[in-house]
Amino acid sequence: MSASVSRTPSGDLSRAFADADSSPGTRDARSESEIDVMSGMGGYGHHLPDAYQAKRFCCRVSLREGVRGLGASSLGGEGGDCGDRVRGCGVAGVVQRRAGRRLIRRRVLMFRPRIKFEHRPVRYGEDRIRIGGDVVGVASEIGDPEGWVWTLLNTLDGTRTVDQVVADLVHRYPDLPQEQIRQAVDDLVTAGYVYDSAAPPPERVIGTGLDRYDRGMMLLRWMDRTPGRSAWDAQLLLHQARVTVVGVGGVGAAAAWALASSGVGQVHCVDGDVVELSNLNRQVLYTEHDLGRSKVEVAVQRLRQHNCEVVVTGDHLVIDRPGQLRALAADCDVLLLAADTPGEIRSWTNRACLATGTAWVHGGYFGPQVHIGLYRPGSGPCADCGRTVRLERDAALPPLTPWAPARGQTPPHAANAVTAGMTGLLAAHAVTSLITGAPALPVNREYGLNLVTLREHTVGLDAPRSDCPTCHGLV
Ligand SMILES: [Zn+2]
Repeated sequence: MSASVSRTPSGDLSRAFADADSSPGTRDARSESEIDVMSGMGGYGHHLPDAYQAKRFCCRVSLREGVRGLGASSLGGEGGDCGDRVRGCGVAGVVQRRAGRRLIRRRVLMFRPRIKFEHRPVRYGEDRIRIGGDVVGVASEIGDPEGWVWTLLNTLDGTRTVDQVVADLVHRYPDLPQEQIRQAVDDLVTAGYVYDSAAPPPERVIGTGLDRYDRGMMLLRWMDRTPGRSAWDAQLLLHQARVTVVGVGGVGAAAAWALASSGVGQVHCVDGDVVELSNLNRQVLYTEHDLGRSKVEVAVQRLRQHNCEVVVTGDHLVIDRPGQLRALAADCDVLLLAADTPGEIRSWTNRACLATGTAWVHGGYFGPQVHIGLYRPGSGPCADCGRTVRLERDAALPPLTPWAPARGQTPPHAANAVTAGMTGLLAAHAVTSLITGAPALPVNREYGLNLVTLREHTVGLDAPRSDCPTCHGLV
């Protein structure tokens, strides 16, 4: 009796899943012209060198290819660099985490395993199961020609121990080896579809807790493929985190609002500007009554009104030297850079976060092109590796002749609440990913979304540049 999960062959089911498979992030790679548009804004210039790889959003399980696991091998996401790979092994799952050259194995114990409601499986016909819903990056397909996997999934309702699950299955399928059933449970656990319903609810989720955050908890649980977590673990990680937002203009204001509303435990805002009339088309924390007031002062006040249960603090501070960023980075779990002046501020932040080992995110836009970058120092290329590539490429370009009427003029700041807000919310999502791993976005990369075409793209080096002036010798 086979328990293996085969690849999904082409056929009716593949066609049935075609819509899901054509969602953003799964279509064909972008064209060269799109790469150019992406790279033109704060980015990597007109033509990407070979060293850059245009990658689609990762962390996806191909529904057409199906999963390769459940009893046989990994059932985890096929994102490759999307995070820890998992492999079923043992009674209740084993997580393998590679730290340098060491392989750390951690057993995931489940007392009463239950399929996450957000991942509830659906059976197609008599021999196919989809688990994880319709979301690419979460969903997987399982072949079940003998029907016992469907029975197994229906017993994983949080009322039985693993031993009781095995006993129920053996009762229904006497020829089914117990070890095969345990292996299947392992695979589901390590794939992140199962949590332990016996785990007690958190003793303390900030203040009003469960009512305020239960919908956010469910979303994080939906995106979370980390094996063995309880329902509230990711939300609790948010509550324990301190995030510093540098710049609370259009991008930073939206990001800070999202982070405070989502329950990040401490949000620290930094800005040296005052509210101006020209800010009000996009900077959502400020009103006409705030003109002339310190942005930080108003932002802290508004964020506290949104969520009195998180600690919101602020510094009215003009960033004009690298040491300020180093001090800020040393005092937080994740730093979000939402300012673009002075011109060196991204490199300063990169260096500060590398020196302090602080994960960081930046967000910005160039007209209708919004973009973010997220970096975890010590785990790959830094932001200045990309800058090195850009400078190298620019040096190889033929001489550029600017349009004469534009000489001496400051480029216009084209933005509205949509571009600034989307950038800020994407940046907040990236911060959430760095804190919780839900979802486990690939790090040390730049992500962009073109609002003219609504197509997204990713740019990143596979390895640090050996000539990077910042991280060479450190990564
Ligand atoms: Zn570097």
